[in-house]
Amino acid sequence: MPIFNYSAGPSMLPHEVMQNVQKELLSYEGSGVSIVEMSHRSTAFQSIVDSLEARLRRLMDIPETYAVLFLQGGATLQFSMVPMNLRETSRFAYVDTGIWSKKAMTDARCFGEVAIIQPTDDLDGMSFSTDGLHDVDYVHLTLNNTIEGTRFTAIPETEVPIVADASSNILAEPIDVSRFGLIYAGAQKNIGPSGLTVVIVRRDLVQSLHLPSYLSYHNQMDTLLNTPSTFSMYVAERVLKWVEEAGGVEAMERMNVQKRDLIYGYFETSALFKPLVTGEKRSLTNIPFTTGSEETDQRFLEFAREQGLIELGGHRSVGGLRASLYNAMPLEGATRLIEVMRQFEEGHDVSH
Ligand SMILES: *Cc1c(COP(=O)(O)O)cnc(C)c1O
Repeated sequence: MPIFNYSAGPSMLPHEVMQNVQKELLSYEGSGVSIVEMSHRSTAFQSIVDSLEARLRRLMDIPETYAVLFLQGGATLQFSMVPMNLRETSRFAYVDTGIWSKKAMTDARCFGEVAIIQPTDDLDGMSFSTDGLHDVDYVHLTLNNTIEGTRFTAIPETEVPIVADASSNILAEPIDVSRFGLIYAGAQKNIGPSGLTVVIVRRDLVQSLHLPSYLSYHNQMDTLLNTPSTFSMYVAERVLKWVEEAGGVEAMERMNVQKRDLIYGYFETSALFKPLVTGEKRSLTNIPFTTGSEETDQRFLEFAREQGLIELGGHRSVGGLRASLYNAMPLEGATRLIEVMRQFEEGHDVSH
């Protein structure tokens, strides 16, 4: 039975990439040595790093005025590295769009004062007001809210740099890098295995500060400061190759829109399953939904698992159901989910 994995992260990776990784795990490009046994200072590994960066720059059209850093510690370490490195006045603004943005704020408060900005949010989409956005070092947004299933649909002009957590939408939809001061993303949703964090930062924002060496962007620019997550970077390079060959970020977006719209289209016809998000701000990658009953949600999870559909539970903080369909999820992952929801609904008497 084929397994469809709707995990929010770490999530499924392209099947052909995984097959190639398996094929060359014991001997990288005929060297007789596994990639996981190789020095991060070797020429073979350096060419992986160079190719990973070149592919990311091409895919996201990253200007030369930005540095690309490959770090560890997940998006979570960026919750503190961002304020630590970008502080000047030590006043920051954070747009509050959910659990991840709140976690980012909590860590920023260790380094200064946080002004909370409420998003503007209606059926036409989600954005934020720039009122009161001066004398802060930056404004922080979570571009795609993995848990709540919402996303920003418009980014206004601001006087201050915009910092974006793009963990769950990087490479899933185009992001105009030039609009941002800094973009960060944990790799495990759309890029590769966990253990790698990508930071894209405008060079002129990076200051040389008195910080512990790993925590300083200045020390991490254009060099591998210490041993990175070599395996994750290697797989990420292969995933980005796959994305390029599949037509790039625009092609990913088209597929993601198609998958999302199919599933939301089904909810419109369903008497049992209800979406939790309405309008344009619906995320392309994370779809939270429910039957309205915790017990029925649990029964559906069980039923879906028996059909090979796994990881459809909502985030532990909100419950309900959630399907995450990142780039590697084929269209069939959407149609199969709809089929299984329909089967469940048909076998389930909605009046009880
Ligand atoms: C998953 C996620 C995180 C947490 O990432 P880690 O790599 O586990 O630290 C942060 N922000 C967003 C938007 C996420 O989706």
